[in-house]
Amino acid sequence: MQLSPNFSLHEMLRSQTATRHSITEQFSPPPMVVDSLKNLCAKLLQPIRELYGGPLVVSSGYRCPRVNKLVGGKPNSQHLKGEAADLDFGTKEANKLLFEAIVEWKKRGFLEFDQLINEYDFAWIHVSYKLSGKNRNQILVVS
Ligand SMILES: [Zn+2]
Repeated sequence: MQLSPNFSLHEMLRSQTATRHSITEQFSPPPMVVDSLKNLCAKLLQPIRELYGGPLVVSSGYRCPRVNKLVGGKPNSQHLKGEAADLDFGTKEANKLLFEAIVEWKKRGFLEFDQLINEYDFAWIHVSYKLSGKNRNQILVVS
């Protein structure tokens, strides 16, 4: 299933942890999660991709509760709701450039997000977009 022109449901559910531990519920999320993922892709990931001008690499999208626990995610993580994605180009330098670009695009009013997080000195970038309620445009650092 395609969630936006360049993002598929498959890509947002992919998880090596789930595959390794045969956690099948990771791959059949509740309808509400699919709605949230669709919203995240349409309102945030697709605009980022178009402004960036190339493919993004989603290293983690939705996480079912068991997967979230195994990867050490917070119990209230937005990944559990399908409202968050981690982006990782494979180098801190590339991740930092994208992070700074997202901050700039926000300033210019090209996009909105709930949270944009620099995780562990740009090891990856976490972005989220809420299905309901106000998106807060918070920029945070986790170290
Ligand atoms: Zn994350």
